[in-house]
Amino acid sequence: MTSADFQSDMSPEAISVLICEHSSVQLRILSEAVSLAGYSVQTASSAEEALKVLALMPVDIFLTGIEVGSVSGLEACWSLKSNAETESVYTIVVTASGEDRRLEESLDAGADDFIRKPVNMTELRARLRAASRLVRMQKQFRSLAETDALTGAANRRAFMQYLEMKAQHATRDDTPLSVVMVDLDHFKAINDTHGHAAGDAVLIDTVIAIQACLRSGDMLGRLGGEEFCVVLPGAGLHSASLAAERIRAAVEAMATNTDSGDVIAVSASLGVASLGNGDLIAAPDLLLQAADSALYRAKAAGRNRVELDDGQPPSHQAIRAVG
Ligand code: GH3
Ligand code: MG
Ligand code: MG
Repeated sequence: MTSADFQSDMSPEAISVLICEHSSVQLRILSEAVSLAGYSVQTASSAEEALKVLALMPVDIFLTGIEVGSVSGLEACWSLKSNAETESVYTIVVTASGEDRRLEESLDAGADDFIRKPVNMTELRARLRAASRLVRMQKQFRSLAETDALTGAANRRAFMQYLEMKAQHATRDDTPLSVVMVDLDHFKAINDTHGHAAGDAVLIDTVIAIQACLRSGDMLGRLGGEEFCVVLPGAGLHSASLAAERIRAAVEAMATNTDSGDVIAVSASLGVASLGNGDLIAAPDLLLQAADSALYRAKAAGRNRVELDDGQPPSHQAIRAVG
């Protein structure tokens, strides 16, 4: 099979393969064959190096020898499969004769497939195609499970997972991180006046408007109903407040057309909080509570505005009085 056949069959350009081999000759032969087949290829000459690559960039398929430096391919499999961020990387072990026990251990450690040395390139490509089918299916399932069906924003679960991961990174690296909570104003009245379908159209437009205000690395989640949240890794309270103001203005500028010919305008109230702003905030749920309490102050102050976390514990009585 030629690489042209391969590409038209699988269009593998979106699939990335990390190849880890101790022998530089083997590594070059494998990487040439795999990249010729249309995959995007990264290489590593030891498991330590491979784990560094895996921590830095998304990898779909990990093709590794068993004896690859002081950390073995087996240990790399363990490490991969015990980390939530890399557990779904499809792992193929390249094994030599006499390594059967190590191969069995690798499969038990979570490796998904194996190929025998000397590597037959036709077989390797076939195994990569099979792996690609699974990777693609897994990506589709994940995307369905993580996306809000109406608006295409991340759903609450996916958003919380991302926030938790980014909050951990921010704490580890001592970098700022902020969240902006967004709640549409008097949205019930829009449903009551224009109907539920028009309300849905406003929600979809809101997500488009907010997305246009974000940088790469920011994530928008729909927490429920007409309530959204944005996480801004790397942004302190001040830059997050500027982003929140851009979002507020973008929502205010929206004009949603309805089937009946009406044009709906809407506004939003926003609350901003930052990790490490005040002693209170150390965990994602406390960060969200702080942003929520700022949001309710924005509602109380007349809506269509941004309020920042004031570092005070949330007053539940005040929240109920506004709600
Ligand atoms: P406030 O300014 O205080 O936030 O008032 P509000 O009317 O926006 O808030 P309230 O919580 O009273 O109403 C939220 C409304 O959002 C009620 C609910 O029917 C509507 N809603 C929730 N989910 C959806 C949805 O998926 N589609 C539509 N069209 N409406 C929704
Ligand atoms: Mg609302
Ligand atoms: Mg609400």
